[in-house]
Amino acid sequence: MVGRVDPNYPPEAEAYREKIRAFLGEHLPSGWHGIGALDHESARSFTGEWRSTLYENGLLAPSWPREYGGGGLSPLEQVIVAEEFYRAGVPTGGTNDTFSIQMVGNTLLHWGTEEQKSHFLPRILSGEDVWCQGYSEPGAGSDLGNLGTRAVLDGDEWVINGQKIWTSAAHLANWIFVLARTDPDAPKHKGITFLLVPMEQPGVEVRPIKMMTGLSEFNETFFTDARTAKDNVVGAVNAGWAVAMTLLGYERGEAAATFPIMFRAEVDRLMELARSTGASRDPLIRQRLAWCYSKVEIMRFLGMRTLTKFLAGGQPGPAESTFKLFWSEYHKIVTELGVDILGSAALTPSGRMSTGFQADDVGAPNDSASWVTAFLMSRAGSIYAGSSQIQRNIIGEMVLGLPKEPAGATQGKTWKELQSTSSS
Ligand SMILES: Cc1cc2nc3c(=O)[nH]c(=O)nc-3n(C[C@H](O)[C@H](O)[C@H](O)COP(=O)(O)OP(=O)(O)OC[C@H]3O[C@@H](n4cnc5c(N)ncnc54)[C@H](O)[C@@H]3O)c2cc1C
Repeated sequence: MVGRVDPNYPPEAEAYREKIRAFLGEHLPSGWHGIGALDHESARSFTGEWRSTLYENGLLAPSWPREYGGGGLSPLEQVIVAEEFYRAGVPTGGTNDTFSIQMVGNTLLHWGTEEQKSHFLPRILSGEDVWCQGYSEPGAGSDLGNLGTRAVLDGDEWVINGQKIWTSAAHLANWIFVLARTDPDAPKHKGITFLLVPMEQPGVEVRPIKMMTGLSEFNETFFTDARTAKDNVVGAVNAGWAVAMTLLGYERGEAAATFPIMFRAEVDRLMELARSTGASRDPLIRQRLAWCYSKVEIMRFLGMRTLTKFLAGGQPGPAESTFKLFWSEYHKIVTELGVDILGSAALTPSGRMSTGFQADDVGAPNDSASWVTAFLMSRAGSIYAGSSQIQRNIIGEMVLGLPKEPAGATQGKTWKELQSTSSS
């Protein structure tokens, strides 16, 4: 399981780092302290403008081939861009680019036909197409293979019926990638197809879900005779599971270089908060702060291990679950400490609310609303992109080679048979 850790970058990396720093110096407003220092409205308009700047300079999808509008950079250069951007507290893309570029874009590069790549990838970068993810359903989250949204071919189009849930930022998207059941008579992980579906049609309805922070970052998405073209299938019909898993690898893998930078900025901010409230004089608080600091250092080394693999040409895989498990569980503890340091002030939070599912943005103020919302948001980190229990299963079964979870009575059954057993 233990991979090689080689944190030393070659000399040409440092030259490239200087180039990126110069780019930031040239394009960021003077007096820049990080996007967290802006209020939400200013941050939103800055992100839109910044995305255009990145697009014009080939830095929006740095490693994508130039023919699709990418920067054509090497994986090492891509990592340096991300590191320097995170250090400066500037976004690497727009609000939905996690879904558009990181997930479906990268998956299309891997699995898409030439026609799909040359149609969809430039439209993603220009911002014409904005994507969201239609995987989870009320009865299919951890057990994603249980999904029941149906797609049936009708002439030149797929007709889709069913419901997705927890669709992040669906209200901002005009395309959704959907896992749909196309053969109910096949075993449950077979008979699933990965479809690209336009959202601006009468058969697609998006309803917001209110989160415990009071915000509505995600939605329920309903499909009622929604349609998409027959060719909007990624990979083969009934073979969408492999495509879906490639995409999850991108969802879980790319944070290794940048999260330790972001979490380090957060723990520095927490120490500042403890000093300002006097809590830093409490030996137990000091001990908990030291624990958080050491966890971020461990996270940095875990990240480097992934990075070493990535820079040697490796793809994200099951081992990346270690990193996801580590940061998401850590983040619940560090934000709880933030709330404990605030004490009664946490009961009447005021100031700027955090909206990110990971650490609050670099430059965020040390106010009570920022810490309290980060504390509430941190609960989501150990659920989305596979819950902590699922990450432990993956590590146990696929990395450590421990025995698999017993499939029991479900072994070898088709999806249709499983549905009739569960409803009887
Ligand atoms: C903030 C956020 C954003 C999200 N965005 C999206 C999105 O954009 N698109 C999308 O499709 N989905 C999205 N999701 C959904 C997410 O992928 C699911 O919530 C997640 O996979 C868990 O599924 P579930 O909610 O159905 O919980 P369940 O699968 O019902 O799990 C309930 C509990 O049982 C545990 N459990 C389940 N199976 C096992 C097992 N085999 N062994 C041990 N424990 C188990 C789980 O760990 C969990 O604690 C998002 C979720 C969150 C929180």
